[in-house]
Order: sequence, then C-alpha cells, then structure tokens
Amino acid sequence: MKKPLRVLIVDDSMDDVELMLRELRHGGYEPAFERVETASAMKMMLEKQKWDIVLADHYMPFFSAIGALTQLKLSGLDIPFIIVSGSIGEDIAVSSMKAGAHDYIMKDNLTRLVPAIERELIEVEERRKCKWAEELLRKSEASLANAQRIAHLGNWEWDIVKNELHWSDEVYRIFGFAPQSFCPTFEMFLNAVHNDDREFVEKFFHDILHERKPYHIDHRIVLPDDAVHVVYEQAEVMFDNTGRAIQMNGIVQDITERKRLEEELRLLNESLERHVAERTAALVKVNEELRIEIEERKRAEEKIKHMAFHDSLTSLPNRVLFNDRLTLSLAHAYRTTETLAVMFLDLDRFKSINDTLGHSVGDMLLHEIANRLKRCIREEDTVARFAGDEFILLLLGINEAEDVSSIARKILDAIQQPLMIRGHELYMTTSIGIAIYPNDGKDAETLLKNADTAMYHAKEQGRNNYQFYTEAMQSASFEKMIMERNLRRALDRGEFVVYYQPLVNIGTGQIVGMEALVRWRHPDRGLINPEEFLSLSENTRLIVFIDELVLYTVCVQCKAWQDAGFQPLCIAVNLSAHTFQQPNLVETVMSALQKTGLDPHFLGLEITESIAMQDIEATIHKLSKLSDLGVQIAIDDFGTGFSSLYYLKKFPVKKLKISQHFVNGIVTDQNDKVIVESVIALAQSLKFKVVAEGVETEEQLIFLKQRQCDEMQGYLFCKPLPAEEFGKIPMQDKQLCGLW
Ligand code: C2E
Ligand code: CA
Ligand code: CA
Repeated sequence: MKKPLRVLIVDDSMDDVELMLRELRHGGYEPAFERVETASAMKMMLEKQKWDIVLADHYMPFFSAIGALTQLKLSGLDIPFIIVSGSIGEDIAVSSMKAGAHDYIMKDNLTRLVPAIERELIEVEERRKCKWAEELLRKSEASLANAQRIAHLGNWEWDIVKNELHWSDEVYRIFGFAPQSFCPTFEMFLNAVHNDDREFVEKFFHDILHERKPYHIDHRIVLPDDAVHVVYEQAEVMFDNTGRAIQMNGIVQDITERKRLEEELRLLNESLERHVAERTAALVKVNEELRIEIEERKRAEEKIKHMAFHDSLTSLPNRVLFNDRLTLSLAHAYRTTETLAVMFLDLDRFKSINDTLGHSVGDMLLHEIANRLKRCIREEDTVARFAGDEFILLLLGINEAEDVSSIARKILDAIQQPLMIRGHELYMTTSIGIAIYPNDGKDAETLLKNADTAMYHAKEQGRNNYQFYTEAMQSASFEKMIMERNLRRALDRGEFVVYYQPLVNIGTGQIVGMEALVRWRHPDRGLINPEEFLSLSENTRLIVFIDELVLYTVCVQCKAWQDAGFQPLCIAVNLSAHTFQQPNLVETVMSALQKTGLDPHFLGLEITESIAMQDIEATIHKLSKLSDLGVQIAIDDFGTGFSSLYYLKKFPVKKLKISQHFVNGIVTDQNDKVIVESVIALAQSLKFKVVAEGVETEEQLIFLKQRQCDEMQGYLFCKPLPAEEFGKIPMQDKQLCGLW
C-alpha cells in the first residue's frame, strides 16, 4: 500500500516534475500534486487545499524558491519546504536555509528526496504537537486566570528565605490595585488587613509556620478607597529536609459578596423563621381559642342537656328523665320477666319548715335529703325529684318484696338522722309508697299513680313509714283523697291558669266582653278542663281558692290590657256556690279591684241559676252590694234551674246566659228551640241582656239573630284562649270572620 502524499510543486519544468514524482512513487508514496510557477498561483493553491509538503525549484523565469518561501510565510502555514534544484553555490544554499527552507536537494541526486521528505514530515509533526501543547498551556493558564478573576480568587507565594512575596493579578485586584503595579511585601499585606482583625491574622500566619497543615481564616481588609471587604485566606507551608520553613503558598478569595449573600440569607431565614414562628404562634392561639370555645360550647350544651333532664336544686334526674328510664326498664323487664319497684316518697311536714324557716333553709334541706337518698340506692337504680318535697325511686332487679322493704327502711333511717342547717337542728321523716311491676301496674303511669296512692296510705298510717300498694287502696274514697291532695298541690304550685273567651254582639259582630275560664296545666297530663276537677274542688271547697285566684288574675289581666291600650272590655268570672256563699265575698271582690286598680265596671260575675235560687234573700243582699260596687252580674246556665220570675226581677242582674245544652239543639230539637225562644223573649220583656253560649254553627247564629238574641259566645267565633294569645289577635280579625 502506497502512502498518500499531497505535494505542491513550484517548478517551470514538467520533466523535472515527472522525475520527482517517479522518485516519490519509487519511495513508496502515492503523490497527489499541483504544479505552480507564479506567486499568485501558489498563493491560490495554499488557500485552496491542504499540503503535506512543498517542493520548489530555485530559479524559474517568473518565480524563485525565496519568493515561494515568502508566500508560504505569508500564509502562516507550517509546511515542510524543500528546495529541489540544479547545482547552486553553497552560499545560496545557506541563505535559502536561513530564509526558512527545510532542506536542499540536487536534481541530479534525487535519491535523497524521499528520506528528506520523511524526516521533514516527522519534524513538522513534532513541531505541530509542540505548538498544540503550548497553545493548550496558554489556554489553560488563561482560563485559570479567568476563573480566578470570576471567583475573585488569587494565589500568592512567599519565599520565606528571600522574603520575596509574589501575588497573582487577582490578588492585586482583590486588594484594590492594578495587577503587578508594585512588588508586594508581607508588611504591606498586613497593613491592608482591617485593624480589628490584624492581631488574629498575624497569629494565623505564626501558627502556620509552626504547624505542618494547611489553615484557613476569614478576615476583613481595607481597600485604598476605604471599602471594607472580607477575604478567605488559605495557606500552606513547605519545609526543607532540616524542617525549616522555606516557602508559604496560599490563596486569597474575596468573599465579600458571598458573605453579604450569606448575611442576607441569614436575615431572610431569620425573618422567615420569625414569621413562621409568629404564624405558628397565632395558629396555636387560634387553635387554643377554638378548643376552649368548643369545650365551652360542649359544656354549655351538656349543661343545657343536664338542665333539661335534671332538677336544678338537687341535681337529681327530673321526672322527664325518670319517666324515660322507667319506660326503658319496663320494656326490659317485660322481655326478661324481671321485677322492678317504683317508690314514691313525700317528706312529712316539710311545708312547716318552709313556712317557718324560709325557702332557702327548705332548699338546703332538700339538697341534703337528695344526697342521703342517693347513698341509699345502688348504681343501677334511679332517684329523681318529682316535685317540691316529693321524690321518686326506680329500683331494678327486685327478687322479693323484702329487697324493697330493706331499702325503704334504709331510707326512713337515713332521713331520720338529724340535720344541721344554718344552726337549726332539724328532724325530718318521710312517708313512702311502693308499687311493684308487674303486679301493681304494667305501665309507668299506673305504677307511679299506685306508688303515690300507697304513699298517701303511709301518710294516713301516721307518717314515717312505708306501704306497699294493695288493691284495697283503689277504693273511691281513696282516689278522692289523692285527687284532693293533687288539687291542693296544683294550687300550691300555681298550675291553674285562666283562659279567655270573647262575647260577641250578634247585631254588630263586635266583641263586647269576655268570660274567664279556668284550666289546670298539669305537668304530666297537659291542659285539663274544669269538668274533670270542678266537682271535687267543690266537694272539698278548694273551689273557693280557685275562684279567688281566677278573680285576682282576671283583675290583673284586664287592667294590664287596658294599660296596654286595648279597648276596655268587661271580663266575667264564674263563681261557684261555695265561693258565692263566702261571707266575705264582697270584701274579697273589693280587695281584688283595689289591689289591681281595675274599674269595677269591667269586672263581671256569673252565678248559676241554681246558686241564685238557694237563699234568695241573702242572694239579693249580696248581689246588690256587688252591683253597687259597679260589678256586672249575670245569671249563668239560665233555664237549667227553676227560677222564680218574681225574684228574678228583684235581682240586680243585667244578663241572662242561656246554657249551651239548649243552644246546642236549637236547630235540631224542638224542645230546645222553644226553650231558647222563650228565654230570649222573657229576657227581652224583663229588659235583661241575653247571651247564647256554645254557639258552634252558622245555623245556630242565624236562628239567634232572627230572635234578636243580644250576644253570643262559642267556638263558631272563638275558642277560649290563654291571655298571651288573646292579646295577639287584633279585634278587626275577630270581626272579619265573615259572619257579619
Ligand atoms: P260555663 O260557665 O257555662 O262556661 C262555658 C263553657 O262552655 C266553657 O267550658 C267553655 O269552654 C264552653 N264553650 C264555649 N263555647 C263552646 C262551644 O262552642 N261549644 C262547646 N261545646 N263548649 C263551649 P269550660 O271552660 O270547660 O268550663 C266548664 C264550666 O266550668 C263552666 O261552664 C263553668 O261553670 C265552670 N268554670 C269554668 N271556669 C270556672 C271558674 O273559674 N270558677 C268556677 N267556679 N267555675 C268555672
Ligand atoms: Ca259561665
Ligand atoms: Ca254557662
């Protein structure tokens, strides 16, 4: 394989060229060549392509080897240049070599050509490598210097023996000087160090000289323009084989910017941390506040819940919670055929303590009794405050009567223990009634009622004892006793309330008055109408208290309505026989009017026909006195008694009220119709106003209107309402019911 060789031949003779080529081929080359014989042609060829070697003749008509050398130099290329010529003088050969030719070969001795070319090719290769290495070094030095400049990093050497210090360009710049503008000394360096740092910098260099490891420090320097910079200094000492320090090398880096950034970063971090800490603290605070609020709400909710199911004085469960537990326990007992007991407990003569020592002592006593009761029962049992001085107990898992008896005895004993309250030594006893499920009742209401009955029996037995309920206690007389006690209790607790029903003028449809009707607002049973409790109230004469209560309540309400700007209306109060027969009735009425400041004309009294006819003389006397006060009297339920018309005329009465029993049948029952028509006619002829009660239908109203009955009262227009609701209905609305 022949080696390729690109040859540029500067010669005017083609024959010579052929000779050279033959020699080259002969020497193992495959030459690719161009021949030129002018400067411009050579210039063009050098620019056009790459050449391994230039072979030039010495003399040519238009060119010369020296001229060719000049062209090559101008091109800046390093290509071996060999002169191939006829014989020339030695001096010319020397001057050619001086001008840059690499060799000189005689045309008549071309055998030297190939060895010369080979040698030159090797040399040019060497030269190129050298140049490349130099270039590389130069470049790396430049880039190092550049890197140092960018990094503000300089290096220095200190020949300790000669005390010569050498700084790189960057060190000068770092210290604020032009590179290499003077010869630095160690003292000059120390001088540039910040006053406050100089001492430890000196110590740093001192230490390095004695220890054999590299050290570094940061310190401040002051520049010629008084700017203070921070530098990082690292140094290392070299020792000779005797251990003497001979040289110190080091680097110095301007880290002002880095320090500034670090400081900025530190401040930023600090403020970030502070911010985070503040936010965290704020969040923690909000969290804490929320937690407290939630807890407070929870507590409040629990309190409300507790209040709904507990008695505020003793903290015991109230009757609502008790009923709940009893109902649940009954359902359970039903499934498991277990037995349970309900105890009804009423303190003996508690009222006298309340009356003599005051309510606060009474309250403290109840509180203590509640505590004692709690101690007498087991965890699963319940003790609740029923009302006032009454407690109820639910005892579960009863095996035999004796279980209950022993608890009852325990309670009697616990209550009997003397109590010290506000310096008073008190002795209490209690009466207990017991009902057992399932024998004495299957539901809560019956069990409670029967336990109550048994308790009443215990009272009858002389108090301070317990009684089991028995069938015998169910007698009517006993029921009555209990009902009576309940009524008393209701009076004590203010459970009676007054409802109001309007009286309407049939001609105009306007409300002209009201009737007050009593109701019992029972804590468990709700609203109870008079028919359920009136006869007993009358039998026990409790009705007198009820009537007085209603009388007083009506006076207060009537006055309040007038004061509130309502149209003044007369309100009628029902009086029972007993109340009417009270010797001090007139005084009672007067006192109610005086105490409330109500004008007597706005108070009405209703007595039934039968009451009026009992002791006619006394009735006339009493009614006259009341009428003289200004109070309006009406005869109630007219037509049910047997009035003597003679006396009727003598009564100072303005109004007759036809009982709802007759009104009820006026359009259906001929008898009722006749009675009502007669009563209206009678009233008209005697100049009484006549009122029809219990009007429920439009037919009834039309009938009454045709007979010119004055007033009506009944569900058709309005049911009895509690005062707060009555006050809310505007009078116009009552007229607008479309009847007029
Ligand atoms: P009363 O005095 O004849 O009172 C009218 C009764 O008829 C009220 O019954 C009233 O609610 C009812 N009533 C009114 N409009 C209608 C209606 O359209 N249809 C029906 N079916 N009934 C209507 P309430 O309130 O039950 O009173 C019954 C009775 O009890 C009264 O009859 C009165 O004799 C007596 N009473 C009510 N409050 C008292 C009171 O404070 N003291 C006394 N001693 N007795 C009262
Ligand atoms: Ca009445
Ligand atoms: Ca009536």
